[in-house]
Amino acid sequence: MVKMYYDKNADIKLLKGKKIVILGYGSQGHAQALNLRDSGLKVSVVEKKGTRGFNLAITHGWKEGENLFTSVPETVRGADWIQFLLPDELQAIIWKNDVAPNIKKGVVLGFSHGFNIRYGQIVPPKEADVVLIAPKGPGHLVRRTYEEGKGTPALVAVEQDYSKKALKLGLAYCRGIGATRAGVLQTTFKEETETDLFGEQNVLCGGVVDLVKAGYETLVEAGYQPEVAYFECLHELKLIVDLVQEGGIGWMNYSISDTAEYGEYTRGPRLVTEQTKLQMKKNLEEVQSGQFAKEYLLENLVGRPVFNSARKAMSEHSIEIVGERLRSMMPWLRKKE
Ligand code: NAP
Ligand code: MG
Repeated sequence: MVKMYYDKNADIKLLKGKKIVILGYGSQGHAQALNLRDSGLKVSVVEKKGTRGFNLAITHGWKEGENLFTSVPETVRGADWIQFLLPDELQAIIWKNDVAPNIKKGVVLGFSHGFNIRYGQIVPPKEADVVLIAPKGPGHLVRRTYEEGKGTPALVAVEQDYSKKALKLGLAYCRGIGATRAGVLQTTFKEETETDLFGEQNVLCGGVVDLVKAGYETLVEAGYQPEVAYFECLHELKLIVDLVQEGGIGWMNYSISDTAEYGEYTRGPRLVTEQTKLQMKKNLEEVQSGQFAKEYLLENLVGRPVFNSARKAMSEHSIEIVGERLRSMMPWLRKKE
C-alpha cells in the first residue's frame, strides 16, 4: 500500500519566517502564493510589470516593493525556497540567467512539474535541495478548495537532499498550500514527469478531446443537429466523469441504464483497440526517451508554428462555435474567467 501524508505528518513550522519566493503569478503561482500567505508564511511573488498576472497580484493584495517584485535576480537573493511556477519552456533560461548566479547554499528549489529536472534543462548545484510539489489539479481549484477549508491532493518528490530534511520541508510546503488536507503521495521526478505527460497526451487532454470531436463530427456529418450532438458528446461528459471520480466505474455503471452499460461493454472496445494501446505505448516511449521534450522545446524555440496552427484550427471548429452559443444560454454554468 502506498504511503499518503496528511496534516499530521507535516510540520509547517519548518517554513515559518523563511523567505519563500514564488516565480510567476499564473495558474499555479497565484494559487500557491495565496494559500501559503493565508497559512502564515512569508511569501514574495515575482511577476513581469504590467502583465495580467502582475495586475491580478495587486488586486489580491500583494504590494509592490514589499512582497511583489519584478526582478528575479534581486528577489531570489537570500531566498530559502524558490518555487518555479513559470511556464515550463521558460524555466531553464530564467534559471541560467537570473536564478543560478544569485542563490545561497542550502536553498530549496521547488517545482510543480518535473520536466526541467527530468530532461536536464536545469542542473542545480549539489548544495541545494530539489523538491517537487505537484498539485493534482488546476491552479484555480488549488485556491478554491483551500478557501473552502478543503485541499487539492498533490505529489511530493525529492531529487536532491542536501539539507537531509528535504522531504520534511516538502511536506511543510504541501501543508502550506492545503494539499496535506486532501492527501499527498510520494513519487519521483521521473515518475511524475513521465506519467503526467503521458496522462495529458493520451487520456485527459489528448484522447478525450479527440474522442469528443470525433463523436460530434460523426453525428453532425450524419445530419443530426449540432446542438444535440454537442449535448450528447461534450456537455454530458462531465456528468459521467463526475460519477466515475466519485465512486469508480461501477458506480457510474450503476447510475446509467443497462442499455447504456451494454453499449459500453460491446462498442467501446471497438474504438479503443489493441492498435490504440500500441500507439499509447509509442507515445509513452517518446516521453521516456526525451523525444517529446526535445520536440516541444524546439517548437518553442522557433516560435510555436505547430502549436499556433493547431490552436487556431481548434478555435474555429464548429463544436467550439456551437458550444459558445449554447453555454451563453446556460447561465448556471460558471463563466470562464
Ligand atoms: P502559467 O499559468 O502560464 O503561469 C506562468 C506565469 O509566469 C505567467 O503569469 C507568466 O506571465 C509568468 N512569467 C513568464 N515569464 C516571466 C518572467 N520572466 N518573470 C516573471 N514571471 C514570468 O503557468 P502554470 O500553468 O501555472 O504552470 C507553472 C508550473 O506549474 C509549470 O511547471 C506547470 O507544468 C506546473 N503545473 C501547472 C498546473 C496547472 O494547473 N496549470 C498543474 C500542475 C503543475 P505572462 O503570462 O504574463 O507572461
Ligand atoms: Mg497533469
